[in-house]
Amino acid sequence: MSPEEFRRHGRQVIDWIADYLAGIESQPVMSQVKPGEIRRALPPEPPEEGEPFESVLSDLGRILLPGITHWQHPGFFGYFPSNASGPAILGDLLSSGLGVQGMLWVTSPACTELETVVVDWLAGLLDLPARFRTDAAGGGVIQDSASSACLVALLAGLHRAGSGRVTAEGITRRYTMYVSSQTHSSLEKAARIAGLGAAGVRVVDVDPHTLAMDPGHLRALLDEDAAAGTVPAMVCATVGTTSTTAVDPVAALGAVCRERGIWLHVDAAYAGVAAVCPELRWLNDGVAEYADSYSTNPHKWLLTNFDCAVLWTGDRAPLLGALSILPDYLRNAATSTGSVVDYRNWQVPLGRRFRALKLWSVIRWYGAEGLRAHIREGVRLAQDLASWISADPGFEVREPRPLGLVCFRPVWPGLPADEADRATMRLMELLNASGSMYMTHTKVAGRVLLRMAVGGPATERRHVEQAWEQIRWEHAALAATLP
Ligand code: PLP
Repeated sequence: MSPEEFRRHGRQVIDWIADYLAGIESQPVMSQVKPGEIRRALPPEPPEEGEPFESVLSDLGRILLPGITHWQHPGFFGYFPSNASGPAILGDLLSSGLGVQGMLWVTSPACTELETVVVDWLAGLLDLPARFRTDAAGGGVIQDSASSACLVALLAGLHRAGSGRVTAEGITRRYTMYVSSQTHSSLEKAARIAGLGAAGVRVVDVDPHTLAMDPGHLRALLDEDAAAGTVPAMVCATVGTTSTTAVDPVAALGAVCRERGIWLHVDAAYAGVAAVCPELRWLNDGVAEYADSYSTNPHKWLLTNFDCAVLWTGDRAPLLGALSILPDYLRNAATSTGSVVDYRNWQVPLGRRFRALKLWSVIRWYGAEGLRAHIREGVRLAQDLASWISADPGFEVREPRPLGLVCFRPVWPGLPADEADRATMRLMELLNASGSMYMTHTKVAGRVLLRMAVGGPATERRHVEQAWEQIRWEHAALAATLP
C-alpha cells in the first residue's frame, strides 16, 4: 500500500468508525447470529491476488457487523464496561502507525519512557502510594489484561516466598495462594500456570452479607497450612469483585500478610480507576500501607480501548528477579548500564505494543476532571437505576452497589427458588434478544441475580430509563404467562 493509498483508505476507515459510532444506537446491542454463521459467510481460502481495501470495508459492514456485539452501544450493560473513546482509538492508531515493538528501552526509548511517565501519572491520579512510582523502589507497567497483571504479581510473590529459588529449582515446595470464592477466575488460571496447581489455591471464606474476604478465616487457613508445611506465595484481595463489586478489607488482610511476610496483591481491575474521584478513594483503604502490588484496567471504565491494564508494585526487585532473562541477542549498551527500564522483564511476553500512547491520549484529552466526570456519571446513573428498582415491588436490589454495577432480581410470587431463577434467566434472554439492551447475570448464594453495569461513554440517563422501562414491561409480560 503506497503512502497515498494509505492516506485515502485511512480516511475511509476513520469515516467508517465515525459513522459506526454515530449510528451505533440503530444496531442490535447483542449480535443475533447463530454459531458458524459468520464463518460460513467468509471464503474458506484466502485470495490468490490482492483485493482492493474497499472490499475489506464492504465485507466488514456486510458480513462481520451482524456478528458484532456492540460494546459501545449505550444500551450495553453486560459484564463490566469496556470503554472506547476517540482519543484512545486515535492513540492506538498512532501506535499501529509507528509500528514500534517496545521490548527494550533501546528498541524505542520513547515507548518506554512515555509508559513510565503515564503510569506514574495514573498512580498520582488514583492517589496510589509514592512507593509505586518508578523513581522509588517500585514502578508501574502496562499489561494486556488484569489476568496477566495478576499472574505477574503471583510470580513476583512466588519469587519472594521462595527466596529466589523458584527461578532455578522450579516448584519444589508446596506453595499456596489465597483467594476468595469471589476472586476472578484468572487467579486460578495464574496458579495453574505458575505451577501451584488446584491444591495450591486456598479459598478464604467471605462475609455472607458483603461477600468480602474474611481476614479471620485467612489467618486460620494460614495457620493450618503452615502446620502442614506449605509456603504462602500470595494473598489476592479484590477491590470490586467481578460478580457484585464487593470490596475486600485490604487493611485487615494486609495486616495479616505483613505479620507473615506474604505478598499482598490487590486486584482492582474494574473498580480501581474510580479512585480518580477523591470521594471514592475509600475503595483503596489499606493499599498505601500494605499492598505489594496493585492492578487496575483503564480498558474497563477509564475510556481507554482494550487492551490496557496497569500493574504497580512497591518493590520491583522480586518481579524483575522472577522474569528477567538476558540472552545475548538482547544485550545492548543501555541495558548494561542498568540505568534504563526494559519492560520486557515486567511481563510474560517479550514483545510489547506501544500502549502508553492511547492512555496518554486519553489522559491529555479528558484531563483529570474529564475522567472524574465520566466515573461520576456512571455512579450517578447506577444509583438512579438502583433507586427505581428498589421503589418497584416487583423487584429487589441485592448486594451493596458502591459503583456502576447494580445487581437485582425480579420477584416471581409463588414460584419456588429454582423456577424463579429460570424465569429470571428467561427474562434476561428475552431482553437481550430484543436488541435494545444487553445485560448479564451472576449467582450469589446459589441464586441468580441480574447485573446491569452502567459506565459506557455513550450511555445517558435516557438509555438507563428506557432499559428499566423495558425490564419492567417484559417482566410483567412474562409473569402473566407463568402459572
Ligand atoms: N479481575 C477482576 C476483578 C475482573 O473483574 C476481571 C474481569 O472482569 C478480571 C480480573 C480479568 O480482566 P481481564 O479481562 O483484563 O483479564
